[in-house]
Amino acid sequence: MDAKKYIEELREKIRYYATKYYDEDAPEISDFEYDKLLQELKYLEMMNPDLATEDSPTKKVIGDVKEGFSEVVHEVPMLSLQDVFDKQALYDFDAKMKESLGENVEYTVETKIDGLSVSLEYVNGVFTRGSTRGNGMIGEDVTENLKMIRSIPRELKEKVTLEVRGEVYMPRASFLALNEAREIEGKPLFANPRNAAAGSLRQLDPQIVAERNLDIFVFNLQKSEKTFETHKETLEYLEAQGFHILPVCTVVKTAEETEREIDKIGEMRGSISFDIDGAVVKVNDLASREKLGNTSKTPRWAVAYKYPPEKKPTKIKDIVIQVGRTGVLTPTAELETVRLAGTNVSRATLHNEDYIRGKDIRIGDTVYVQKAGEIIPEVVAVIPEKRDGSEVVFEMPKVCPVCGSEVERVENEAAVRCTGIECPARLFRSIVHFASREAMDIDGLGPALIEVLLKEGLIANIADIYSLKAEDVEKLDRMGKKSAENLINAIQKSKENSLDKLIFGLGIRHIGKKAGKLIAENFSDIDEIASASAEKFANIAEIGLKMGESIVKYFRSEQVKDTIERLKKAGVNTKGGKKEIVDDRFAGMTFVLTGTLPTYTRQEAQEIIEGFGGKASSSVSKKTTYVLAGEEAGSKLDKANQLGVKVIDEAKFKKMIE
Ligand SMILES: [Zn+2]
Repeated sequence: MDAKKYIEELREKIRYYATKYYDEDAPEISDFEYDKLLQELKYLEMMNPDLATEDSPTKKVIGDVKEGFSEVVHEVPMLSLQDVFDKQALYDFDAKMKESLGENVEYTVETKIDGLSVSLEYVNGVFTRGSTRGNGMIGEDVTENLKMIRSIPRELKEKVTLEVRGEVYMPRASFLALNEAREIEGKPLFANPRNAAAGSLRQLDPQIVAERNLDIFVFNLQKSEKTFETHKETLEYLEAQGFHILPVCTVVKTAEETEREIDKIGEMRGSISFDIDGAVVKVNDLASREKLGNTSKTPRWAVAYKYPPEKKPTKIKDIVIQVGRTGVLTPTAELETVRLAGTNVSRATLHNEDYIRGKDIRIGDTVYVQKAGEIIPEVVAVIPEKRDGSEVVFEMPKVCPVCGSEVERVENEAAVRCTGIECPARLFRSIVHFASREAMDIDGLGPALIEVLLKEGLIANIADIYSLKAEDVEKLDRMGKKSAENLINAIQKSKENSLDKLIFGLGIRHIGKKAGKLIAENFSDIDEIASASAEKFANIAEIGLKMGESIVKYFRSEQVKDTIERLKKAGVNTKGGKKEIVDDRFAGMTFVLTGTLPTYTRQEAQEIIEGFGGKASSSVSKKTTYVLAGEEAGSKLDKANQLGVKVIDEAKFKKMIE
């Protein structure tokens, strides 16, 4: 392939991944791989200067303004930093700086938070506008969303006008909780905390942002009426004004010191509550920064060192199954302990059966383990040369190792799940969900208490909540008479909830809050829901067949049937919002449907007829009131004509039901 074609293909590829990353918050490759592609393109353009173009991703920062947000033109462009991937580049940077600025140059070494860069503007000490980086020149106005982040001060200590830049991130614990909730609802999962932060900050509804628990570290004072000499001083000033500043910002003088600081930050990566994807080295003196200036894309006075994903060989001692709180069976490798990104690793995820088959991972294999997105270590590859023939091929179990229920593998999904709704592995999670605010909203019944109730054997099922007695709860640790009473009252109150809260609370796969509401509105009670067909659900706007099938499957379980009966007996409201028949204009009439109607399905037409008190029959007789005929109506139409039964089309039918 010629160089021109290759370069163009590489650019296309980078643009594609960049769109996934910046605009859709759904990356398909790791950042490290993406950066490598960009590096390769840069190199090729340098070697073939005649093939360089102005619109190349190496020259342009990619990222468009999302519909629904207004544009913010950055007065000072939000540049990205020049990335380096090896330590030698740090020494080169140091040499270059010393050449321009002299031997006494000072640097700061800072943590590079893996999040989303934003700009915050304050006028007379008041937060007035916040924006995303966008393409560096134009970003999105996300002021209302940023106001939902508690650590962004609405007002500063002094009435000053300034602009700062910071990195919005999602703490790991919040990220894991968010994905867990999304999994229950069947929503796509975020790949890593950074994408979750970006996806959250770019929500059009600030209320959603408020629920996502975002945080921020401020890393630069961009504009200010006050003057400062060094970067370090500006950060200290910002901290005094009420900002959360970067957790690490150390002043150093040499490349050796820089390297040492970078290693130190690298070591702490595994043990902090948020993700760091690199370390930034900046010239500390602000006047020197001015002097050096920027290239078209990056400042000359800084480099970002990117930590490579740490990868080490070790041996798989065994493969065990972990059952998650949502019932997913995850094969997990038990490893000979190895140190990765600052933590001891003795377990690594193997994701699912396909992953194990695809990489041919066997018990006893020597493999490479790496930390993906700095969260859960994973086995990335087998080292086949290390095999001696004693390795054992792993088989996924057919039953849940925790409760013994059958497991199922959903079509088109790699995950295998336990089907037992009372599986202890799932129980805790499902009760927490049931009692949560969005579901049955039982005040005081939080995760800590649920854990105790389970341990003490006071509940083993969501229905058991309704047989709890104040005198039993009272005896528990840290509970008293008053709190026990309050709990029982909250439980009593939850019996009156509308049906949608119960449906959502049951935690049926793919059925979120909104679907719960739609279903509750369209059925008269839970029994009708439990006996409806998947198609019937799919007829409701916004409810798909997949959701319908999931509901049908859920109510088929004996455990579920029993639970529902007990909830009903306890007095929990199971009545839905479907309107009772008041209009019975078709009372006493019988309709026969034949042929294909232009807009209604037969099912729909039948429901309408029944909704108006009529009957739908499948064969034509003298007793038939109307034959509703569509296209390609066959023998039934002939028979109607023979018997003199009135034949109507859909248009006429629609008039009748107006
Ligand atoms: Zn189970």
